Amino acid sequence: MDCLFCKIAAGEIPCKKVYEDEQVLAFYDIDPKAPVHVLFIPKIHLDGVRDITPENAAVVGHILSVFPVVAAQLGVTDYRVVSNNGAQAGQSVQHLHFHLLAGRTLGEMG
Ligand code: AMP
Ligand code: ZN
Repeated sequence: MDCLFCKIAAGEIPCKKVYEDEQVLAFYDIDPKAPVHVLFIPKIHLDGVRDITPENAAVVGHILSVFPVVAAQLGVTDYRVVSNNGAQAGQSVQHLHFHLLAGRTLGEMG
């Protein structure tokens, strides 16, 4: 599949890695929207939140469990977790990912 984040997960395209285990990869966003901006992706391909099912939800739970680990590693206590689903919501890469944003005051959502 021609998917940018699958290629990053496979090591075919380089990234600035922050954390990795068998199921998840976290790396710095190439175009940061905050002083700390890290992306968390499952190594399996899911199109977005719309692809989460009871059968694959464990990987999503695992990804969320990695947030406190990476936040501690980066020394941030206050952060926002975002996943854009669909073009109107701002999703530009069609592989499930969660943004960790920190290091500045984050305004109201919307
Ligand atoms: P979204 O717009 O919510 O789909 O998020 C996709 C994010 O991926 C954007 O914040 C981009 O800056 C980021 N991005 C795109 N290409 C790369 C890349 N090669 N390495 C790291 N981040 C990327
Ligand atoms: Zn993919």
